Amino acid sequence: MRLDSGWGLTQEAPAADGEVWVELRGHGAALDDASAGLLTTAVALRNWHRRARYCARCGGVVRSRQFGWATECTRCGHEEYPRTDPAVICLVHDDVGVNGEQVLLARQPVWPPGRYSVLAGFVEAGESLERCVEREVAEEVGVAVRDVRYLGSQPWPFPRSIMLGFAARADAGAVPSPADGEIENACWMPRERVAAAFAGRDPDLLLPGGSSIAHLMLRAWAGADA
Ligand SMILES: [Zn+2]
Repeated sequence: MRLDSGWGLTQEAPAADGEVWVELRGHGAALDDASAGLLTTAVALRNWHRRARYCARCGGVVRSRQFGWATECTRCGHEEYPRTDPAVICLVHDDVGVNGEQVLLARQPVWPPGRYSVLAGFVEAGESLERCVEREVAEEVGVAVRDVRYLGSQPWPFPRSIMLGFAARADAGAVPSPADGEIENACWMPRERVAAAFAGRDPDLLLPGGSSIAHLMLRAWAGADA
């Protein structure tokens, strides 16, 4: 197996007989941690160099510096470093016990039937991460959350994000109201059903797979006590 991630390497290095190119996003779970980290860094840098060819200050052509970790404008000398766009992803559970008995899941209209995940969105300029979690959940499903807690992060270089994982609590009786166009359906899902879906016993519920942080967050919650 050879990994591709929009690098264009399929043109630069065509696959030999019996080889196929696959994407980091869908197949990163096949790599060990060190290899996944190295490839993720390489993909992030490659994406940056492909998209930031001109100076943000004067529009001049930039050239690579510091072995690819920076660029310098050939006209004004301005230095740039790779940018990362923060996005929050939040597992919202109800307020029963410590970890809740139900999780709030939602699906986008473009997803395959039965696919659900937790909510996510980009951090806006000047916004704290906690406020972003509250705003995104309110905007997407109309539910007020509290007790926002940080869980962990995952670089997501598609093209240049980092996913910041949180958990938050909402009233068990809160009724989700999906945002028009953005969210097709949102609902509370009991822990037993999430666990059954991960165990392959619920073909009607498709949860995030692979090594995505959404998968790790949901799997940890499904295995926890309320
Ligand atoms: Zn410049």
